[in-house]
Amino acid sequence: MQKHTDFAEFTVITPSAGIETARHGWRAKCLQRLIRLDLPVPPTVALPCDTVRAIAAGQMPDTKKLSALFPDVLVSVRPSPANPEWGGPGSVLNVGMNAAIHARFVKTQGQAFADAIYLSFVQSYAVHVARLDPDMFTAEPSSEALAAALAAYEAEMDEEFPQSPAKQLSEVLRSMARAWEGTTARLLREAKGAPSDAALGLVVQEMAQAIGPGLSGAGTIQLIESVTGAPQVTGRFRGLNPANRKAEETLYLVKDKRGHSLEEAAPEVFATLQDQCRRCRELLREEMQLEFALENGSLKVIDATRVNRSARATVRTSVTLAKDGIISREEAILRVQPRAISELLHYQVDPRVPRDRVARGIAASPGAASGRIVFSAADAQAAAARDERCILVRRETAPEDIRGMHAAVAVLTERGGVTSHAAVIARGLGLPCIVGASELTLDLRERRFATRDGRIFREGDVVTIDGTNGEVLAGSAEMLEPALDEWFRTLLHWADNVRDIGVRANADTPDDARTARMFEAEGIGLCRTEHMFFDEDRLTVMREMIFADSAKDRKVALDRLLPMQRADFIALFDIMAGSPVCIRLFDPPLHEFLPQDREGMRELAEALDRPLSEVTRRVEALSEFNPMLGMRGVRLGITVPEIYDMQARAIFEATVEASRRGATVVPEVMIPLVSAKREVELVKTRIDAVAAAVKNELKADFDYRLGVMVETPRAALRAGEIAQHAAFLSFGTNDLTQMTYGLSRDDAGRFMGSYVQQGVYAEDPFHVLDSEGVGELLLIGSERGREVRPEVTISVCGEHGGNPESIAFCRKAGFDYVSCSPFRVPVARLAAAHFAL
Ligand code: PEP
Ligand code: MG
Repeated sequence: MQKHTDFAEFTVITPSAGIETARHGWRAKCLQRLIRLDLPVPPTVALPCDTVRAIAAGQMPDTKKLSALFPDVLVSVRPSPANPEWGGPGSVLNVGMNAAIHARFVKTQGQAFADAIYLSFVQSYAVHVARLDPDMFTAEPSSEALAAALAAYEAEMDEEFPQSPAKQLSEVLRSMARAWEGTTARLLREAKGAPSDAALGLVVQEMAQAIGPGLSGAGTIQLIESVTGAPQVTGRFRGLNPANRKAEETLYLVKDKRGHSLEEAAPEVFATLQDQCRRCRELLREEMQLEFALENGSLKVIDATRVNRSARATVRTSVTLAKDGIISREEAILRVQPRAISELLHYQVDPRVPRDRVARGIAASPGAASGRIVFSAADAQAAAARDERCILVRRETAPEDIRGMHAAVAVLTERGGVTSHAAVIARGLGLPCIVGASELTLDLRERRFATRDGRIFREGDVVTIDGTNGEVLAGSAEMLEPALDEWFRTLLHWADNVRDIGVRANADTPDDARTARMFEAEGIGLCRTEHMFFDEDRLTVMREMIFADSAKDRKVALDRLLPMQRADFIALFDIMAGSPVCIRLFDPPLHEFLPQDREGMRELAEALDRPLSEVTRRVEALSEFNPMLGMRGVRLGITVPEIYDMQARAIFEATVEASRRGATVVPEVMIPLVSAKREVELVKTRIDAVAAAVKNELKADFDYRLGVMVETPRAALRAGEIAQHAAFLSFGTNDLTQMTYGLSRDDAGRFMGSYVQQGVYAEDPFHVLDSEGVGELLLIGSERGREVRPEVTISVCGEHGGNPESIAFCRKAGFDYVSCSPFRVPVARLAAAHFAL
């Protein structure tokens, strides 16, 4: 026999009732606060989470006592989880509606109203509680539609539509309790940060009927605009305008040229509502949206929820609340989730350039990105491993696609709505996303999609996803950089004042450096100089250098590269205006600069005026079985030292030049892929010699700092002796992860999904720092380094530098700074502040 749940525990919400967010949920607590503010809230009862959980576990709720509290009136049931972000089952309104009340409404409110309210309750009960096919319950209100819906219910359920309010209530409670436990609901709320044991409370409230001969209706009001957070009374109101008694008419809430408004029809009610919003803002310390009903001019406040808003509006609201003295600056910082602000930082398609639109869908996550089409999560990961920007196109996404979404620059799905898996996850990741692009015809087997006008896009074709307005564009698009407003800057300045770890940017080009400055990075933590050699004009010189037969020929090529590098560094120093700039000497294997195919080799042979056979032979001679563990980094610096000599000279000459024009520059020169102290000694000797020569030639003085990148396990273990020659140690956690795991960073994407799915790794270690293994090397390296040289600067410059969990690790380990890609700098600044608070 099923046990009945005892409802002795439910609590009538009064100013002094013991309502707690943890036990009854945020809505119950919020309603109590409204009652304490003396707002006209209808009688309300809170059901604690324990009771709801028992109902979900199969205990039949006995609702006689609860129902008796609401004799002869209709009630609403609303979800009340501990955190409003976690959502919950949809509210059910007008519970208690039956034939008797229908008959009464026919007399008092007229047939049309009575039919409409009964039909809408039957529809919602049939679909959400009895779980009948929604297609059977979609009719527009009329007496016939009501009769048909009641008959359809009876035919499907083999019983009359329940007439007992107590029975209706217990079924509604049961269906909501169960819905909370469903897998989809669980995944959705977990994506929003809910713990796996998050519980649901419920709130039962007397319905305020927004009907009557006087001014009646229902609506919402808030004091800010939801997208920007700017002060502006907004909301909606629907009701009968007493000035125009003919028919129900939508009134605008606020004065509007297009029609009548509540503001004009009832200025005193409008003023009261604004005042109530302001009082809520102060007591609840949040911008609230009030839901209200007017019955013959008498106001009822039914509910208040935090204004649903964009990340941009959250930033502005939090800062404004702190400036108004309602919350502290610390609280303002904590109210903005670091990952959420990346939404403010996104690129937008430049509206001034023509668009080649191929399809439209639902704009599910803002920002825009261009990339090559892939049709599976695995392909997205493989593309990311090749450093290729890709757009993940799926019919819809499921949890196993999350890793692919991480790897993609944008997501496009054929199905789904704004709360679909793809949309929810993409927003969480700050990825541009379009869902429900049903105009597209996907052919997953052929790896292509067709647009409505018959154009075909295949795997590898480039498209642009504009997640801000839901448009798919052919090809790549001109983008506008994100705009950062004063509230965003203020919040991040407050964050800077509390955080205790530095944040620099990885920036290779003047453009990157400008972005880093815009995001107020405290300097450049890693400039990968090799990225400067891929421009067409430099590549040829670079290849000449690689093919040089003698030191003399090599010098000729390097002498041509020198002014180019010097100009690069002058630009970086100028942009960074005296902030530290850490330049890493040349790192990749030389063969990366050589052509891979026959056509490329033929062109090279032509450019170098050498026989094709010779070019082919030299390219082959340079190729390695395992290039990432081969002749690269400092190994190249020691074998072909002229390259580092040229780079050091370019850095120092640029230092003199930039310091003469502006702020004093103290460059940081970093040696990559070190594994032995002797490597550092050899390179240091030559670099010191270049510095002395430049000082002498230019009759100038300057300081510089020489440091070592710790990206081999041996360098971490031998950090003590290495630190003897290093002013700073910067952990290159990409290579360090690769070498610690023995896991190719370029190929791991192929099986990472399956590894993580099976729990071999909790997370992709290239994404979130492996605090146990790689982390231990970081701790060993920093301890040993500091033992020998206490003032040595310690940092991380691998991709992990922008990941909040990894920042927490570095902060705890006492590192001086993290360095991450420019777009992650604001996230890192805010995350670091969160950890410090
Ligand atoms: C690293 O290995 O972590 C690093 C920053 O260097 P790169 O990614 O250029 O190898
Ligand atoms: Mg590296």
